[in-house]
Amino acid sequence: MAAPAAGTRVFLEVRGRLQSALLIVGLPEEGGMATNISITPSSIQVDSPKGCTEAWLPAEVRLAPSSCRGLQYVAGDGLHLRLQAQVEFRTEMISVFNQIPQAQECCTFYCQSCGEVIIRDRKLLRVLPLPSENWGALVEEWCCHPDPFANRSLHPQENDCFFGDSFFLVNLKSDMQQEPKVNTKVICKRCKVMLGEIMSSGTTKFYMTEIIIQPSERSFPIIPRSRFVQSVIAQCLVELSTARSTFRFSIQGQDGKVYVLLWLLNSDSLVIASWTNSKHIKKFPLLEDTLNTDSSAAWNAIKVLYQPCIKSGNEKLASSWESDISVHSLTLPSVTCLELLLILARSNSTLPPSLRQMNSFQLPHMRENIRPFTLCDWLVSLNFLQVH
Ligand SMILES: [Zn+2]
Repeated sequence: MAAPAAGTRVFLEVRGRLQSALLIVGLPEEGGMATNISITPSSIQVDSPKGCTEAWLPAEVRLAPSSCRGLQYVAGDGLHLRLQAQVEFRTEMISVFNQIPQAQECCTFYCQSCGEVIIRDRKLLRVLPLPSENWGALVEEWCCHPDPFANRSLHPQENDCFFGDSFFLVNLKSDMQQEPKVNTKVICKRCKVMLGEIMSSGTTKFYMTEIIIQPSERSFPIIPRSRFVQSVIAQCLVELSTARSTFRFSIQGQDGKVYVLLWLLNSDSLVIASWTNSKHIKKFPLLEDTLNTDSSAAWNAIKVLYQPCIKSGNEKLASSWESDISVHSLTLPSVTCLELLLILARSNSTLPPSLRQMNSFQLPHMRENIRPFTLCDWLVSLNFLQVH
């Protein structure tokens, strides 16, 4: 896909399930400038005295130009119009399955931030999801005798990898020279990032946002940190909402504090935008990598509402969500929660102004376009191959 060139700002959001698209063309003021907008099934072209902006859609998206409706001028944004769109759903999950040649190959665990090897050449024979937190209650209900698993936590053996909502458990006993202390943090030796915690002498927990697992013969993939974090968290949210019909999440640090309240609105957006102002780059220098690489490209995204909870902000809302059983809590390292807050704020600031807020919540997109590298799918696919 060709990215929109510099010129008029263009924002297109296509919703896969609704087969509809919202196009926003950033015009400075009503009737202020002669502008020609041409829409074909595969492209959008905006000609104005500022220059020509052209965006080519990815192959799986087609617009229906004759379906244009709802044309209106929104102050601060420019022209809004809606169109019907045809979207073929991606099949990347399947291509991930294909990329794993053998189930029992050796894997290497890397620190995502710096590439340091954390576990080298581990043969994983069992990769299994951990039961949900309500699992014990279910067993109790279904068993006619006392729960045989009561008070027995699940400990992985040397060739096991068990995964939960935002972490996975492995057995590192053979890698450690001395008996590890329970409840100590696992820190990357090279970059000092916190990767996980030691749960018991045989079980170590690693957070999915901190680690990359690759078949050993492949090399470490360099992915900008902010892209990796938002992609992994976006996938965790999508998977949890599909599996448990949960749409509200409280993102907690490993220190027990709530950092972000998130509400998943949809996970079927495809966004094509050249809306970023150069002034935003100065605001968020840490996240420049994302801006430089894809500030004007197409990406798959989930849409969330969020409220930050740092500096005792939103305490009331946080405590009402805490006591609500339909809210699912997701625990990550505290530093990653702060990274997530920065990413959400940055993403929100690059949207057309009218799309940034809804009922006091901020409304950013989170990109989820690096599926093949991320952990959850990969683990599931490995397991899938073993079963079949
Ligand atoms: Zn590191």
